[in-house]
Amino acid sequence: METNQELLSRSLSAVWHPCTQMKQHETLPLVPMARGEGVWLYDFDGKRYLDAVSSWWVNLFGHCNPRINAAIKDQLDRLEHVMLAGFTHQPVVALSERLSRLSGLGHCFYGSDGASATEIALKMSFHYWRNSGRPEKTRFVSLQNGYHGETVGALSVTDVALFKDVYAPLLRASTQVPTPDWRYAEAGESARDYALRCAAALRIHLEQHHAETAALIVEPLVQGAAGMGMYDAEYLRQARAICDEFNVHLIADEIAVGFGRSGTFFAHQQAGIKPDFLCLSKGITGGYLPLSVVLTTDMVYQAFYHDETARGFLHSHSYTGNALACRAALAVLDIFEQDDVIAANRDKTALFNRIAAPLRAHPQVKNFRNTGMIWAFEAASTVPGFARRCFEEGLKRGLLLRPMGNTVYFMPPYVINEQEIRLLVTGVLEIIECL
Ligand SMILES: *Cc1c(COP(=O)(O)O)cnc(C)c1O
Repeated sequence: METNQELLSRSLSAVWHPCTQMKQHETLPLVPMARGEGVWLYDFDGKRYLDAVSSWWVNLFGHCNPRINAAIKDQLDRLEHVMLAGFTHQPVVALSERLSRLSGLGHCFYGSDGASATEIALKMSFHYWRNSGRPEKTRFVSLQNGYHGETVGALSVTDVALFKDVYAPLLRASTQVPTPDWRYAEAGESARDYALRCAAALRIHLEQHHAETAALIVEPLVQGAAGMGMYDAEYLRQARAICDEFNVHLIADEIAVGFGRSGTFFAHQQAGIKPDFLCLSKGITGGYLPLSVVLTTDMVYQAFYHDETARGFLHSHSYTGNALACRAALAVLDIFEQDDVIAANRDKTALFNRIAAPLRAHPQVKNFRNTGMIWAFEAASTVPGFARRCFEEGLKRGLLLRPMGNTVYFMPPYVINEQEIRLLVTGVLEIIECL
């Protein structure tokens, strides 16, 4: 049997880990994982870690969920994959029908990762306007601190300096408008009033630039990589109306907040609006397999439907609509229906908030906030390298936390139970006390 130590050193010589300065692993050990079950991940010594970040926001129903496992195993013996250009299969058709019913949008276009969904939405929006006789609409607007992925096109509308600045010479210019994230509100200004003020700034920008703007792309309700910045749904209502007024598409990037994470199945539903493009990934397969999808309106679809080949959307990824991934996604949708997950999560959110009350009230905890199954706060600590120290203290206590700067957040799998919530909150209170 492999030991933690062996796997760790083999990984460091063979694997280039993502989003990592590899040299830091000289002093910060990798955490080798042998297996998972529910909210828990186990190393080779049997030590367990509560996955409080759902393995980068992808896991919904726990690791090695028996129902998702069974669906994938069944699919594996029928059809693992077939190219989707010129061919089709049951899981991709059924998944597209169900996502359409859930979103009120149609014709699912598949990619593999979240960033590929962003690329697809940006290209489709631009190409729609071109097919509609408006080729000058080539520019994109996004929110300050927004995150939409890290491929070159997606990075162009992302606004996170650490990921973006080095690559600036490669990127197309885009415009960032003020973020409605209420942490930026004036003292005494409500989240809603601040959202209205930011919407007014968006309106001024589009008044001047609508003629050359194809789309506004936003993360509805929660800006994840910005440090779980949360905002009032009024901003989305305003943004929808302003985009309509100026003939600009609204792209909802629900890669992180879709599939119940925000408290409703899709986050934009809390504003009672419909986007022109909806990007989904992460939770779509319950955290099992890479899959992303862009849904759009019939109007957009029809603008590509033509005798001329080049008016079509000639974009593809090799694994587009992979059968195993689609089958995992169907199992996820079955769980949502059979277990009435959205209603159950409402109770779980209330329970979590009750248990987390001492954390919210702690003098070292600022801006405690919650949207659906996401919680976050800023630690007042001035300890240098807080994020890394907190990560290490978490591991000691069997908690997988991954703070962003001084922002500590919880985005647990939905299957987390009361006892596990207590472990998590107690552990984080201890960490806050010692840092
Ligand atoms: C994670 C994320 C992406 C990128 O998805 P990848 O699968 O990592 O490429 C895009 N947008 C948002 C809002 C995300 O959270």
